[in-house]
Amino acid sequence: MADAAFTPRVFSGIKPSGGLTLGNYLGAIKRFVGMQGGDFETIYCVVDMHAVTVWQNPDDLRTATREVAAGYLASGIDPSKSILFNQSRVSAHAELGWLFNCVARVGWMNRMTQFKDKAGKNSEQVSLGLYAYPSLMAADILAYHATHVPVGEDQKQHVELTRDIAKKFNHDYKVDFFPETTPVIEGPAMRVMNLRDGTKKMSKSGESDMERVNMLDDADTIAKKFKKSRSDQDVLPDSMDGLADRAEARNLVNIYAALADISNDAVLAEYGGQGWGKFKPALADLAVEKLAPISGEMRRFMDDPAEIDRIMAHGADKARAIAEPILNKTFDIMGFVR
Ligand code: ATP
Ligand code: MG
Repeated sequence: MADAAFTPRVFSGIKPSGGLTLGNYLGAIKRFVGMQGGDFETIYCVVDMHAVTVWQNPDDLRTATREVAAGYLASGIDPSKSILFNQSRVSAHAELGWLFNCVARVGWMNRMTQFKDKAGKNSEQVSLGLYAYPSLMAADILAYHATHVPVGEDQKQHVELTRDIAKKFNHDYKVDFFPETTPVIEGPAMRVMNLRDGTKKMSKSGESDMERVNMLDDADTIAKKFKKSRSDQDVLPDSMDGLADRAEARNLVNIYAALADISNDAVLAEYGGQGWGKFKPALADLAVEKLAPISGEMRRFMDDPAEIDRIMAHGADKARAIAEPILNKTFDIMGFVR
């Protein structure tokens, strides 16, 4: 695929399915800010239509949509440098999502581990939307011909499916229309784990509030959550090799490294040989130092929901200007009479 033919463009999104977590911040938002204003055109979305794949209380959905937008803005997403909007305002996502439902194969969907995790034993009772979610995500990305998608590790499989959809579409219609998008997954916090169980990812929709740090948590809550986080009996080792079988310890070191913008090894160079009584308070202090200014800004934005809505509406106009011609061309290629 001749990537040179496509404008270097980043698309990524976050679901308003709850309050933003430290995992969302380190694995997504902080990196989105880093890609802004550089070589890429950047498009960041509040993917509200993904949120309703599980039932959302309408008032909570409205609040969470504005909270995710506030999280983007407070962290440094600048609407004059990036397109910031919520998904449901740009109908091209849903329309292209339907077309991709007709490209993606059931066998591909059956391999998606997020569906298996989220559906659990209950797979007959979850919504059809939860199952089809990855093809809507492919539409989110490909409606903009996005070449790069920064995501956490958990979304890698969905970006790979996006590539498969692009390839199959191009092949089936003998065109070179959709790019094969590259997932961008790098840094120490690509998979921030649950603070109570190092085998599970930290998620905004996880059951217990103690398993995650929320971007809006106050200093005392953050300190309490790290203090009570699961660790182990050993002191910290001198190198990451010593953390191979220590999932919880590894996670706390990764979080420290990502917050401080240093390598894991640099963290261990400082804390190797130290116990949790020393490391956990230092980690909590660092998290508060980094998150407090952002949560303060988030609250300020959330006090003015009309301003957030205005920013998202304006962003949606700019998003539509890119997505609609791509959607129309897709309809054309497929033979729709318009
Ligand atoms: P939900 O529980 O509703 O799925 P979530 O916390 O997983 O919520 P998403 O909206 O699904 O958040 O994901 C938004 C972005 O945040 C994605 O790029 C995803 O990879 C990233 N992300 C989510 N959780 C983590 C995590 N624990 N570590 C690193 N990145 C994460
Ligand atoms: Mg998720």
